[in-house]
Amino acid sequence: MKKCDVLYMVIPCYNEEEVLLETTKRLKEKLNGLIKKKIISAKSKVMYVNDGSKDKTWELIKQIHNNDSMFTGISLSRNRGHQNALVAGLLTAKDYADVVISMDADLQDDINAVDGMLEKYYDGCDIVYGVRSARKTDTFFKRVTAEGFYKFMQMMGVDVVYNHADYRLTSKKVLNNFQDYKEVNLFLRGIFPLIGYKSDKVYYERAERFAGESKYPLKKMLNFAWDGITSFSVKPLRLICGLGFIILFISIIIMIYSLIRKISGNTIDGWTFLNISIWFIGGLQMISLGIIGEYVGKMYNETKARPRFIVAENLEEINKK
Ligand code: UDP
Ligand code: MG
Repeated sequence: MKKCDVLYMVIPCYNEEEVLLETTKRLKEKLNGLIKKKIISAKSKVMYVNDGSKDKTWELIKQIHNNDSMFTGISLSRNRGHQNALVAGLLTAKDYADVVISMDADLQDDINAVDGMLEKYYDGCDIVYGVRSARKTDTFFKRVTAEGFYKFMQMMGVDVVYNHADYRLTSKKVLNNFQDYKEVNLFLRGIFPLIGYKSDKVYYERAERFAGESKYPLKKMLNFAWDGITSFSVKPLRLICGLGFIILFISIIIMIYSLIRKISGNTIDGWTFLNISIWFIGGLQMISLGIIGEYVGKMYNETKARPRFIVAENLEEINKK
């Protein structure tokens, strides 16, 4: 028999009173369609996460919930940012659902991609990433900064799915493992590829925000990128070491150059010694910092106490059943 699992859609909302009603209408249509086709169980729900909104968002969510039990919600004690709101939603929803899809309240991510995600889920995928195939509707500035962001992350050694934001399907199994990642500096896009299991991508076109304005100004975006790099990569620390070696190499060239000038006699007293010392010590210090950095990086990784591995299947357990 075909499975008919309980789906929860987790939607973080920060000052989204302008979009909530429309979002609710569209999601209701979508879920009802899926329930009718017996793709998901009739117990499936939409879970709004109120991220300490200053407007009427939470009142609206409560009202929507009272009118229709398909919609439910949680409210955070204060604004903690998109990533934390998502975690709160994912970890709450996993207790009720078999499979969870996270998406933004403004429906910039095409909700029709949900069908494709569920299809891949039933085919055995535990994580399905929604990937933007085009960014026609984003402004030139947003497009360039966002695409630059993914390229830069990859350069810095962070494993991220290109052009994937937080529109993602995750199974209950993955969320149970996700719970063990206890780090406070959150960058979800980096964590899910780390968890592993079978995963796939679904492509969609990103639409414009239909009402309200972006809650991600440039400053928040830069902070987010910086958080992503410093939470996942010790490459910046390695760069210091590399720089040290480059400077040490330059110091050798300067040494030769200074000695030649000394021998040919056109320097003033003491210049050669000072010149060589400055470059040599500079390089040495930089390398020392890099080495200390290497240890700091190790400590940093240890303090995060991430799981070292996740067992996907254990034949002993399977035999027992
Ligand atoms: N959001 C949130 N807390 C915040 C900022 C944003 O929960 O502090 C939510 C917001 O309500 C939306 C999602 O995160 O559902 C993405 O925000 P937005 O659409 O403004 O970002 P953009 O699409 O412009 O990158
Ligand atoms: Mg948006």
